[in-house]
Amino acid sequence: MSKRLDDLRAKLVKEGLDGLIVTRPDNQLYLSGFPGGEYLDATMLVSAEHAWISTDSRYYEEVKQRAKEFTLFEAGYDRNKVMGEFATTAKPKVMGFEMTHLTVATLKDWSKAARKAGFKLKPMAGLVEGQRMIKEPEEIAAIKRAVDLTDRAFAHLCAVIKVGDTEKQAAWIIEKYMRENGADKVAFNLIVAAGPNSALPHAMPGNRKIQRGEPIVVDIGCQIDHYNSDMTRTILLGQPDEQFKKVYDTVLRAQRAAAKKIKAGVKGKRADSFARAVIDKAGFGDQFGHGLGHGVGLAVHEGPRASKLSKDVYQSNMTLTLEPGIYIPGWGGVRIEDLVVIRENDVEILSQASKEPIIKI
Ligand code: ZN
Ligand code: ZN
Repeated sequence: MSKRLDDLRAKLVKEGLDGLIVTRPDNQLYLSGFPGGEYLDATMLVSAEHAWISTDSRYYEEVKQRAKEFTLFEAGYDRNKVMGEFATTAKPKVMGFEMTHLTVATLKDWSKAARKAGFKLKPMAGLVEGQRMIKEPEEIAAIKRAVDLTDRAFAHLCAVIKVGDTEKQAAWIIEKYMRENGADKVAFNLIVAAGPNSALPHAMPGNRKIQRGEPIVVDIGCQIDHYNSDMTRTILLGQPDEQFKKVYDTVLRAQRAAAKKIKAGVKGKRADSFARAVIDKAGFGDQFGHGLGHGVGLAVHEGPRASKLSKDVYQSNMTLTLEPGIYIPGWGGVRIEDLVVIRENDVEILSQASKEPIIKI
C-alpha cells in the first residue's frame, strides 16, 4: 500500500496540490486496504505528511485493522469536523477533491468548512483511477481467480440450460454457482438475454422463456477479494440459422483481430478500430454501437478504454475487455467478451470459457 500512497503523493506535487480528499470507496480501498463501506461512509485525506480516514463508529475497528498506514479520525457523524482538524494539522492551501464522486450538498458543506479553515478546494478527476490502471501481480492474481470461477460458472450453465428456462432462471443458475463456489458476490447484475432481447446490449433478464435456435447473450462476472471479472458468451440451443452463423463468425473474427494486434503502446482508439474494421467490412458497422472494451479491477468498468473516443495509451499490466458485438433489432445480438492483460508484445487472454456457441439438444 505504501507504494500506492507514495505514487499518489508524487502526483499531488505535480498537480500543485497540498492534498487530496478521496471519497470514491474503491479508491479508498486501493490506497488503504479499508473497503470504505458505502459511498461517503468514510472520507480520506492524503497530504505529503498525513494520511487520514475519517469515519463513524461502525468502521473504527476495521480501519485500525486494515488501514495501518492511515490515522483514524473518529468523526462520529460530524463529517465536517475533519476538514478543520486537518487544516490545523497539515496547513494545506489547496486541497483536491474527487469531482466525479461528491454530491453538491457535501461540496457545499465542505466549501464552508474550507473557507473557515483557510484553504481552497480544487475539483480533480482520475488521479487515483490513473494509478489503478496498471495492475500489480497480486491484483492480476485476484482477477484471475474471479475469471476462472466465471469460466466454470459458464460451463455449468451450458451443461444444464434447457429450452423453456427463463432468462431469470438461467441468470440464477450462474449466480448460484458463483456464490456456492467462492464468489463474494456477482460483479454486476448478470445478463442473460434471449432472442430479440439479445439485441439490447445491457438487457435485464426477464421472464422470457428461452427457445431453440435463438441467440442467447450471457454477460457475467463475479467478485473475489474485491476484484472483478467480466465475460460474455453467446450461445444457441439447437440449430443455428444462416444469419446467426454469419453474425457469430463476424464477431469472433473481430475479437480475434483485436486480441492479435493489441499490446503495450497501442492507443485505445486504434485498438477499437482493429475489431471495428472487421465488423464494418462484413456490413454490420451500424450494428456495433458501443466501444470495444474497458479495464476491469476493483471496478467492473475502469480505465483504460478501447473506443472511438479513447485517448488512453496502453501499458503493460493493464487489463482490458475485448467485447465486440452486433445487435440487430427484432432478431437479436451476438457479443463475445474476453478479459485480457496487456503485455509488452501481446495480450494474455485470461477468459478460457468455450467459444463454441452451439449447444446440442
Ligand atoms: Zn460484460
Ligand atoms: Zn465488459
